[in-house]
Amino acid sequence: MHEIDDVERLKRINAALMGRVERSMDQQGSAFTLFQTAITLDRRIRQRTDELTQTLRRLEQSNRELAVAKETAEQANLSKTRFLAAASHDVLQPLNAAHLSVSALADLQTSEEGRRLAAQVGRALETMDDLLRTLLDISRLDAGVVKPEIVDVPLRPLFQSLWSDFSPMAAKQRLELRFRDTDEVVRTDRTMYRRVLQNIISNALRYTRQGGVLVGARRRGGDVVVQVVDTGIGIPPDQHEAVYEEFHRGAGAVGADPRSAGLGLGLAIVRRMVQALGHRIELTSHVGRGTIFRVVSPAVAAGDRQARAAAASPVAPRVYGLYGIRVLLLENDAAVSEAMTSLLARWHCDVRFAASRGEAFARLATETDWRPDIIVADQHLDHGDLGTRTVEALRETFGRRIPALLVTADASDAVAATARASGIELMRKPVKPAELRALIAHLLA
Ligand code: ATP
Ligand code: MG
Repeated sequence: MHEIDDVERLKRINAALMGRVERSMDQQGSAFTLFQTAITLDRRIRQRTDELTQTLRRLEQSNRELAVAKETAEQANLSKTRFLAAASHDVLQPLNAAHLSVSALADLQTSEEGRRLAAQVGRALETMDDLLRTLLDISRLDAGVVKPEIVDVPLRPLFQSLWSDFSPMAAKQRLELRFRDTDEVVRTDRTMYRRVLQNIISNALRYTRQGGVLVGARRRGGDVVVQVVDTGIGIPPDQHEAVYEEFHRGAGAVGADPRSAGLGLGLAIVRRMVQALGHRIELTSHVGRGTIFRVVSPAVAAGDRQARAAAASPVAPRVYGLYGIRVLLLENDAAVSEAMTSLLARWHCDVRFAASRGEAFARLATETDWRPDIIVADQHLDHGDLGTRTVEALRETFGRRIPALLVTADASDAVAATARASGIELMRKPVKPAELRALIAHLLA
């Protein structure tokens, strides 16, 4: 009896033990599976991590390469700009002087041959001047130093001024030039936008033998599309990209009259300006039938116009050299004032003059849409006013550091010091035209 009990007890203990062993085996089993899973996962994670690290490293490497390339490009652009800035300063000045000497030389010629040669040299100098200034513009645009001044530009007055610029050229070529009237207003930089259209219209006229050129504007959603349509020689499809490259000239252009030949830079400038302005340019052309260039820019909605209309200033035709530069002349000596005005007018500057500070302000108050690009001042004005003070007052009123040039017979150090302190360039009388022209160009550069 006792033994049976013992056996039973041992069986129960055994069963309990077995159960525990089995449970623990189970637990170990799942732990083992977990362990195995963990190892596999770990291995996979490590693999992924490795892959990621490698990708990151590759990205870093190509980032570094990109940065180096970018830096090199920026450096190259910068040195190009610096070189051209130096070139423009050191070459354009003697070039200006040479230009003046050549016109004097031309006046001295008594023979037809002499005049012809002088004119030829003059044209060559002009071409050089254009080329340098254009290259400088390109490098400035590339370097991003040109910051567009975005304003509302109504197309009607712009079209009118372009028409008056180009209609003589069209008439000479017996081409019809028409601008379709429009009351669209564009958000853009006035000067850059004008130069874009100027280049496209001049091309349209240059590469058209018969028929004419039509300029018009229309709405496309929130944009204004200005379209220049010509009935010219056309551009072959394989050149639709290349025409924007520097110095690219098409077959029709190369065969043209060398005296009116271009540099192949017009559209290179156009493309950069359009880019800087955030506009778009489109081209459609059929060889032998004609070409359409379209410039797409943001429109100003009619409602926004009145509000901004008051702030709008007039169209300033600005070509190369001093053409169209607005000069405010402060001079109280009538004879000097007259001589200076005619000198400046010969360079196609747009001149206003005043003999005193009060007169200057009165002038600018009556003519609110004329603002000086540069002030040329005598130091001693009427009513005891000083040129330097007047310049400072004008700068303050217009909230802009208008470039200024003090032309004075006063040789004292005091005047020189005052001018320097106000950031005004000094030039001694008597004025040498070449020097004056060069200084104005330099101050406006
Ligand atoms: P410039 O530097 O004086 O403008 P260009 O007119 O030769 O010289 P681009 O204005 O850049 O230079 O034009 C490049 C080329 O594209 C031209 O030489 C010409 O072959 C072609 N081209 C441009 N506009 C037209 C057009 N409206 N019709 C036909 N060909 C054109
Ligand atoms: Mg051109």
